[in-house]
Amino acid sequence: MKYSLHRTGDGRWAHTWVRQSAIKTADMCLERLRTDIYNLTDRQETDATAFGTACHAVAEDALNAKMNGADEPLSALQGAFEYYWEQAEPTVDQWHKYSPSDMVPMGHERLAMWHEEVYPNVNPIAVEEDYNKVLFEDHERIVHMRGTIDLVENDCLWDWKFPSRDYSRNKWEYERWDVQSIAYCWARGIPNFRFGIVHPKGVSYIDLERDESHTQWLREKVLALCQFVEKSQAGGPWPLGDNGWWCSEKWCPNWARCKGAT
Ligand code: SF4
Repeated sequence: MKYSLHRTGDGRWAHTWVRQSAIKTADMCLERLRTDIYNLTDRQETDATAFGTACHAVAEDALNAKMNGADEPLSALQGAFEYYWEQAEPTVDQWHKYSPSDMVPMGHERLAMWHEEVYPNVNPIAVEEDYNKVLFEDHERIVHMRGTIDLVENDCLWDWKFPSRDYSRNKWEYERWDVQSIAYCWARGIPNFRFGIVHPKGVSYIDLERDESHTQWLREKVLALCQFVEKSQAGGPWPLGDNGWWCSEKWCPNWARCKGAT
């Protein structure tokens, strides 16, 4: 299981790189997927990603406290954010959306909304739960799928988002092709999934219901991708997906040697 793509003892391909984020990357640019799978570029941390990570860490602590029977006051969440942000700030390579002075007030504000609207209404049975399950297996290959679920309730799985705008109006897109909800519902055997979107104007939700038909499609999609990766691992070519925002100096670490080079 050490290498993201390797042969098992019986000669089958073993894929251990499949996460919902990798599938999203493949939808955008297969060359970018290649460099991610084989760890060929350094990860660039953005201000927005680091902010989201710090907020997630605070929510995780608060939910663990709740599971242990002790709800945390808002002041504890805001203090925890300051601690996590102090650690996260030096790791930011790219400031795109925010400036350093925005971050602590913004963290306090978002966590206040989360604490008021979300925290009292959830009943965690697991927090930041990892899964690693076989999504597909036959005589040629075995495909593992992995992920981490922010919050598990008895009847619902959650993922937190702390974006700079509310995108819950795009629910129809998530209903049609969101991979994360399908993967998590399959992994946990719970059909209900909720995005909790904590944005500058409040908290919005996207509720999705996933069943076996969605899982079947995910298997088809991942299987086709795995077969492509097997055929191309010896040297490509890997198609260049440049038709979107992700293909830019700002968002792609391959830019300088790839599209930027021309
Ligand atoms: S620069 Fe564009 S085409 Fe090249 S890897 Fe990045 S996203 Fe893909």
